[in-house]
Amino acid sequence: MFNGLFHIREPKNEPVLGYEPGSTERAALKRELERMLANPIEVPCIIGGREVTTGDLVEMRPPHALRQSLGRYHRASAVEAELAIAAANEAKGAWSEMDWSARATVLHKAAELLAGKYRYTLNAATMLNTSKTCHQAEIDSACELIDFWRFNPYFMTQVYDDQPLSTQQVINYMEHRPLEGFVFAVSPFNFASIAGNLPTAPALMGNAVVWKPSSTAILPAYYIMQVLKEAGLPDGVINLVPGPGPVIGPPVLNHTDLGGVHFTGSTQVFSTIWLTVGSDIRKYISYPRIVGETGGKNFVFVHESADLDVLTAALVRGAFEYQGQKCSAASRAYIPDSLWPQLRQRMLDEIGTIRMGDTCDFRNFMGAVIDQSAFKSITQYLEFAKSDPNLDVLCGGGYEDREGYFIEPTVVESRDPRSKLMSEEIFGPVLTVYVYPAKRYEETLELCDTTSPYALTGAIFARDRFAIVQATRALRNAAGNFYINDKPTGAVVGQQPFGGSRASGTNDKAGTWLNLERWVSPRSIKETYLPASDYRYPFMDGE
Ligand code: NAD
Repeated sequence: MFNGLFHIREPKNEPVLGYEPGSTERAALKRELERMLANPIEVPCIIGGREVTTGDLVEMRPPHALRQSLGRYHRASAVEAELAIAAANEAKGAWSEMDWSARATVLHKAAELLAGKYRYTLNAATMLNTSKTCHQAEIDSACELIDFWRFNPYFMTQVYDDQPLSTQQVINYMEHRPLEGFVFAVSPFNFASIAGNLPTAPALMGNAVVWKPSSTAILPAYYIMQVLKEAGLPDGVINLVPGPGPVIGPPVLNHTDLGGVHFTGSTQVFSTIWLTVGSDIRKYISYPRIVGETGGKNFVFVHESADLDVLTAALVRGAFEYQGQKCSAASRAYIPDSLWPQLRQRMLDEIGTIRMGDTCDFRNFMGAVIDQSAFKSITQYLEFAKSDPNLDVLCGGGYEDREGYFIEPTVVESRDPRSKLMSEEIFGPVLTVYVYPAKRYEETLELCDTTSPYALTGAIFARDRFAIVQATRALRNAAGNFYINDKPTGAVVGQQPFGGSRASGTNDKAGTWLNLERWVSPRSIKETYLPASDYRYPFMDGE
């Protein structure tokens, strides 16, 4: 037992390195990229701290360079899923009984390891396996994940600090117990930081986890496990089972001990997960906690008082960075007709300068989309845009998949404000614009609010304060993260708590105490110093 009050000071966000030509970080990252490409590896499942091989090997390739190999991973099946549940259940006891301060130090140490010796390894794995530029990898697999690991222990103390009132005769306290059973973490391909946060946030609160990473982002997941091991995470607390969702999902989701699900990915998969859990809720020991951050159809709403330079930069970055594969990417824009001719020209000029290609070439602003199925789905939207009389492709629209899954940055103008390009998540480099009569600002705000089922991120661009106030009010439920005169992407842990509602998820705000609260089941304890020794009350003493 540790006698002393352990304090975690408020962390600071990890500074983003620039990777300018000639910088030491650029040289170090380039070396690591070369090393990784020259040394393909074999990734096992990691269960109870043991490397488990299945022999069912799947090739890992950079989406932008399909002839290169990053190695192979051992695909898990339902057998490994069951082993992982058993390992989590075994590890849970000792881990959850450890002092919370000891659990916190594991994540703090992991953050320091990632900020130092593992920074370039995880950035290189993210760049190669998921086709991110060095900047996109740096803000994700380095800075955001470091921030999650530094901030969550601090937020944990806020959860634990929440204690009820006591009196002189009665002491009341709340014990923030981990959930009974294990937690199932299921991560998407597009953010290594999310992949690292989904299993570690519940683990920090004393839970043990079965983690299924995305099949298209195995390499970053493997290195995250290495960092955690070196940071002292005990065996079995997080178990890595890289396998297909429809194979790993059902046995884990139907297990009696399922205590919670920590998911990020598409709305469709999340709905399937929820339906599976809900199909026979009586089989679980408790009602499983279900947390899911899902898709978006994020808007940029422009008032005629907007600054055009700021707006152009925001649209280009917001829509096309990481090939539009951010849940927060700008994918529909509402532009007043008074600004459109000028904005259109500026935007098309800027997009004309974008370089796309292998992300190991640091001059490129864009890489490839993640895989064949994403390529197919996005290009179907492009073909639809080319054929629909209500849609005009203003730039881009081209694609090719010989060397990698490349899709040009595309802007489509829609005359139909409710076209499927204005309402469905495309998850690729496609921005659809609807030009509205500047005088119909208020009506168009309502149109924006009611066009798409999603409500993840959105932005208003205006200099006129009245217009800003009006949009903030009208779009109150249209986005869980709302930006004023800034692009709708790039939320920072501790600064813009992230998550959306409606079809965009349960809005439990990753990287905040709100999310951590979901991984505990509080127990209220009351102790009375001098309890009653007679059942009778004084009012009963006479009639
Ligand atoms: P996806 O839904 O295809 O896959 C997410 C994860 O679910 C993967 O690990 C996948 O293997 C797994 N999965 C698939 N079927 C499953 C099943 N039946 N049971 C259990 N697991 C299953 O998503 P993706 O393509 O990896 O990521 C892109 C999506 O994620 C987009 O919709 C994007 O908007 C969303 N996203 C949202 C946020 C957010 O914070 N709101 C952040 C990142 C990504």
